[in-house]
Amino acid sequence: MMRELTDKLRATLRKYWRYEGFRPGQLETILSVVGSSLEGPPTGRDTLSLMPTGAGKSLLYQLPTMARKDGFCVVVTPLIALMKDQVDKLRARGISAVAVHSGMTPDQIDAALDNCVYGDVRFLYVAPERLASEMFRLRLPRMNPTLLAIDEAHCISQWGYDFRPSYLRIAEIRALIPATPVLALTASATEQVVEDIMAQLKMVGGKVVRTSFERPNLSYSVRKVEDKGGQLMRVIEGVPGAGIVYVRTRAGVEQLAAWLAEKGVYHGGMQAGERTLRQEEWTSDKKRIMVATNAFGMGIDKADVRFVVHWSVPDSVENYYQESGRAGRDGQRAYCLLLLSPDDRSRAVNRLEAEFPSLETIKQVYELIFNYLQVGIGEGRDYSFDFNVFDFCHVNKLFTWTALNAIRILQSNGYMVLTDESDHPARVMFCVSRDDLYRLRIERDDLDHFLRTIMRMYNGIFTEFRSVDEQEIASVSGYTVDRVKELFKTLWQLRVIRYIPSRRTPLLFFPMERLPVEDVYIAPNTYTIRKELAVSRSAQIFDYAGEGGGDFGSGVHGGKSGGEECRSVWLRRYFGEADPQECGVCDVCLSRRGKAAPSDECDESVGCGEGTELAGRQEVARPEDRQSQDGIGSPEGLRTGGSEGSSRPMTRRPQDGFAVRVRFSEQAVLDVIRERKPTVKQLVAMFAADPDRVLDSLDSLVAEGWVVIDATGIINLS
Ligand SMILES: [Zn+2]
Repeated sequence: MMRELTDKLRATLRKYWRYEGFRPGQLETILSVVGSSLEGPPTGRDTLSLMPTGAGKSLLYQLPTMARKDGFCVVVTPLIALMKDQVDKLRARGISAVAVHSGMTPDQIDAALDNCVYGDVRFLYVAPERLASEMFRLRLPRMNPTLLAIDEAHCISQWGYDFRPSYLRIAEIRALIPATPVLALTASATEQVVEDIMAQLKMVGGKVVRTSFERPNLSYSVRKVEDKGGQLMRVIEGVPGAGIVYVRTRAGVEQLAAWLAEKGVYHGGMQAGERTLRQEEWTSDKKRIMVATNAFGMGIDKADVRFVVHWSVPDSVENYYQESGRAGRDGQRAYCLLLLSPDDRSRAVNRLEAEFPSLETIKQVYELIFNYLQVGIGEGRDYSFDFNVFDFCHVNKLFTWTALNAIRILQSNGYMVLTDESDHPARVMFCVSRDDLYRLRIERDDLDHFLRTIMRMYNGIFTEFRSVDEQEIASVSGYTVDRVKELFKTLWQLRVIRYIPSRRTPLLFFPMERLPVEDVYIAPNTYTIRKELAVSRSAQIFDYAGEGGGDFGSGVHGGKSGGEECRSVWLRRYFGEADPQECGVCDVCLSRRGKAAPSDECDESVGCGEGTELAGRQEVARPEDRQSQDGIGSPEGLRTGGSEGSSRPMTRRPQDGFAVRVRFSEQAVLDVIRERKPTVKQLVAMFAADPDRVLDSLDSLVAEGWVVIDATGIINLS
């Protein structure tokens, strides 16, 4: 019986995924949610699976669903990017899946949900803030789901590192489909969070499946240095193969990318529109290094990443584990390096302070937002609005940083959801029959190649709106992106397609109506407690780095401080493993073996020591790095001129702190644009001390949609 079931599951695995075997932890979880039979009413148990990211989590709910003839799975996930990625992947396997998130209109949601009731859809991905809607609740029981999967299940716990109040609604959803087993998935949960998840989701008698967090092929190390750039260069030159460098902010990413480009090791476009291209070139090995914020990497299956360097200290151990875990998925040796500079710690303290504006400020921002959007008290529920944060702050004389943090806290109280701009790619649907289209292709030779490309790239485009990637179409068709957009416009004018161009402005969604400000309640678990948790999370990552508890408070890990024990042991104990063995390949293990000193010298743990030819190369990078230090330290940081002996007009030395300065410089540029409406030439003249930087700022302001440049070169706010 059991044997028969397992055989059936394996057959499904081969049929849709073409894999021959399961990875650790997968079969145990799948058998638990499947129960005794793949037919009739579901017989599975509620199951919580703790599995590191990249270990094949999505298969845990996808396979049991596809193994059943009538399988239908509802997946709750907060990450729109991931949702879309999963839907695309399922469709590529010929499996019908839909997503419902905040970026959709009520009509689109209505249609998608109807498809789940009447169509042959197998997977419905839904954002947690959509669970409350009547539209969803009425239809859910009629969808007869055979499995309810909760991705990122730690979001339901206020003790977790990413609590989202909308997750609490999942318990209500469960009550509507009592016979459906629940599969909760998380890549990170301490014992306390595990218990909380089980309680919140009412997983009575539920089973917990833990997969080890061990990554034996990863070599972890931490470097405390003044000169992060020099360390980074040593890794880039010492470790062959592809790598990711994580930087906290987008501005920081652009700055570091520019610096690496100067060093001749990075060749990527600097504009937002080129990001997709850069990513694609990295994935296909045309480019070695990817500099990115931590949003990058979700849904990217590049197995042969040889190193992940954290330029900025991450917010939590969970994030660190997840991001560094994108290295070495092929099982080959890979390196994870965390860079730490002497002032990272005080910066972290300051940042945490700034992340929690006063309660009055938060309420004030609440009022101002609704006033700005002209939404009255009692209105706004279930509506989305285009929301340009900069314009909002400009109108209300607020700091962007303050406003964004206030919005984040309002968001965790369930009052609003701000979605990222990248959530809205262009969407296209054909509104003519295939026959008409065929005639058109014969009549309009100029459109034929373009039409064929789209039809080849996006199946299903005749029956529903499909997200299309103009950049990707450009690279496949050989047209420029502008030309692609033009052609879409032409087709739209010819009434061949319906076309929603990609949107850069973020959306603000309101799950509930505007309240009188005195009724706006900021729950302590979203503010005071969050702040304490944020502080302790930050302390944990510094503890991992070997910085002790210090001014954050101490004793967070209970055991030895990082730096005194094997990094892998530290991490695995953090994730609740009982008796982890030393890895033998991290910087701590290596220094104990006496093979290398735990100093800022290059050593085996970051890959330089394994061959003498590699070790030799580090010497090349060093003297120059020393020089580049001269450029830092001026008050504005951006107008530094000094780089003695260099022919370049300035030396930018990237470091974490400059992210803030860059933002201020963009602010300064914006102020000038607002005041004077200059031409590009005039603007450059005004910032003559640093023309490169002002052009970079201008580029990113244009790319982010803050300003527009007209045909005569005059810059204006958009
Ligand atoms: Zn170790």
